[in-house]
Amino acid sequence: MAHVVEVFSSIQGEGLYVGTRQVFVRFAGCNLACTYCDTPDSRQLCQFALVERTAGKRNFISVSNPLSLENLVQVINSLLTFRHHSISFTGGEPLCQAASIIKLAPQLNAPIYLETNGTLPDRLAEVLPYVDIISMDIKLPSIAGKSYWQEHYEFLRLALDKEVFVKVVVTGQTKETEIKQAVNLVASVSSEIPLILQPVTPINGCEPVTPETLLMYQEHALAILKNVRVIPQTHKFMGQL
Ligand code: SF4
Repeated sequence: MAHVVEVFSSIQGEGLYVGTRQVFVRFAGCNLACTYCDTPDSRQLCQFALVERTAGKRNFISVSNPLSLENLVQVINSLLTFRHHSISFTGGEPLCQAASIIKLAPQLNAPIYLETNGTLPDRLAEVLPYVDIISMDIKLPSIAGKSYWQEHYEFLRLALDKEVFVKVVVTGQTKETEIKQAVNLVASVSSEIPLILQPVTPINGCEPVTPETLLMYQEHALAILKNVRVIPQTHKFMGQL
């Protein structure tokens, strides 16, 4: 069984694979409470999941939670009626339901792209054989309320077994020392790992980072890492989910 918020086909708006077509499976529940969270409804378990019937048509129906894995497999695979790059397991924090992912992933007809907050290395170790690409966040203490440096380090070491890139959301509250620590953490695992600096979308009272500061952070990171890109949440200004 799996607790899900929604399942739909859309365009990946963030990170290294921006612009690709994916089926999104938004799992319910999260172990964090980030200040800028743009999916606050997915942090809790909910009574119903919204399921798109036809890829991209937004013809959602409500289905009771938790969904049986058989039902979820059928729902996801039925959206793969044309070429999708991958299936994004997102949330919430999908690794909160690692046991479901282990059973689900082998039955799906596209590669698995895991979007994760990068704080649950033990769970990652369990699902690692079943995922193909990992989009791992580093959560800075200024937005997560506490430090996760050790968890992030262990997580990234494990993730290196697969294709992985790291994303850091940057706000007006971000401290330069935090960016430097995040960059050093990535470099201590491998300077080849791509780093995405994602300027926070300035909604819900989030303080934006200034353009000059963003340039400075990218310059800092490029001194140590080979591939550092600045990519905002493009789905927000395309009106995509
Ligand atoms: S990890 Fe993601 S889902 Fe969880 S609180 Fe942070 S932004 Fe929201």
